[in-house]
Amino acid sequence: MDGHIYGYNLPISEKTKAVPWEEKVRIVEEVKSDFRYKEYIFGCLNCGVCTASCPSNRFFDYSPREIVQRFLEEDVEVLYDMMHEYIWACSQCFTCWIRCPFVNNPGGLVAIMREVAVRNAFEATKDLLKPYGRVLLKVMTTGNQLSADMLQPDFFPDWGPKMADNMENLRAKRLAIPFDVGKSVKTAWEVSLETAVEMYTIWRETGIFEMLEKLDPNLYNVIMDIVEENEERYEELYEEEE
Ligand code: SF4
Ligand code: SF4
Repeated sequence: MDGHIYGYNLPISEKTKAVPWEEKVRIVEEVKSDFRYKEYIFGCLNCGVCTASCPSNRFFDYSPREIVQRFLEEDVEVLYDMMHEYIWACSQCFTCWIRCPFVNNPGGLVAIMREVAVRNAFEATKDLLKPYGRVLLKVMTTGNQLSADMLQPDFFPDWGPKMADNMENLRAKRLAIPFDVGKSVKTAWEVSLETAVEMYTIWRETGIFEMLEKLDPNLYNVIMDIVEENEERYEELYEEEE
């Protein structure tokens, strides 16, 4: 299949073409075997409401209608290709789900496709997610997505020259905020040890740690050191209380 495919406005990559057919089928079947799949796709009028409402469609060559259509047509080649870069354009806002007359959930399908891409350690996925390593580390070790100390001027040059001034005396500025923000620049709020350990259990049971290990083994090791330390601390506290 060369050149442009109808609707999917991108040429199929050489990498996708080189992958054995059975492997592409296996990957697409892994998506379809997810228990959510049947709840996210019911049929399609091809009306394009989802794509017309999709914020990502305004900025990228990306269409939720295409994703639904390709699943219904069982277009393995295109679906496999989409799972390398295309699906990462979705901002997971779920407007498509709210607007679809069939109550299809293209954003939900994308979430499943992303999970399968991570579980299968696609190289393109690893590269795409690399810049999010700092955020992942922050979320998984503190329960905070962003903290004041992450807003470094070097990382956000487009925020202008005033950003450097804002970063000065950051701690004093945080302390001056008249309500409780944990008084720290490393976290935006405090997450209790009990909540953290509950999260670790959920991530362990749902295979999140396993996915992280495949995605970035170094980041996995750093995070697991902190996780195991916290779990030990929690166990000691629990035993003391008993
Ligand atoms: S969830 Fe994704 S596909 Fe759906 S409207 Fe939002 S950005 Fe578009
Ligand atoms: S809004 Fe629903 S029915 Fe219309 S094209 Fe999108 S998925 Fe298909």
